[in-house]
Parts: sequence; C-alpha cells; structure tokens
Amino acid sequence: MTKEAEQRPLAEEPSRCKWCRRVLPNQRIGRPREFCSHACRQWHWVGKQRAAELQLSEHELIVTKETLDQLHDELYVLACAVNDAEKDLAAAHGKGSAKELRELLEWLLEAARPLRDRELNQSSLRP
Ligand SMILES: [Zn+2]
Repeated sequence: MTKEAEQRPLAEEPSRCKWCRRVLPNQRIGRPREFCSHACRQWHWVGKQRAAELQLSEHELIVTKETLDQLHDELYVLACAVNDAEKDLAAAHGKGSAKELRELLEWLLEAARPLRDRELNQSSLRP
C-alpha cells in the first residue's frame, strides 16, 4: 500500500432511501433527501401507520412468507453463482482469458439482477 492510499479518507457510506434502500444521489445543498421518490415517502408513512396499529417497534417488520421465500431463493442463486465464480477463478490460477472472465461476470450479474431489480411488495402493506 502506498502512503497516498493510507492517507486517503474512508469513503462515506452513501445515503439511502428510507423505504426502498436505493442509494440517493449526492446532494450538496439544501435539506438532505430521505426518499428516492414521492411513492417511497408515502409507503414509508403508510408503513409507520400500520406498525403503530399493530404495536410493532421500529425494529420489527411483517413480511409475507411468499416474499421472504422469494428473497431467500434469489439469495441462494447469488450465493451459488459466487461459489462457482470463486471455484473457477481458483482453478484458472490467474490465467483466465478475457472471454472466460466476461462469461464469469455475466453469470454473476445474471444471478444478482433479480435482487437489484426487486421491488418491495407494496400491496402487502395496503390496509
Ligand atoms: Zn425509494
């Protein structure tokens, strides 16, 4: 590690939408944004109302079994892809061709996209 790298400040944790957890764009002026969209602001408010009705604490959440199962399935697929990628990289001993690395990356991206693209099941919050 060079001296310059040691002196570089740690990157700040990006601010995220309080509802969907997407990274919010950097904002230098004005009040910091809490939500990525008006819809997220509204769903956050609805969620807080429902939590109050059900006497849930700030750290408790009700999720449908179907939503949780789907999330676990997507995480399992990603974990398998990571395991495969690690095995392939170890087997290549740093000599993988650009084509092989590209295929590996595409495989990982294919496994990760469902998690990136998932939306919280907002219908489960409807009163
Ligand atoms: Zn959002």
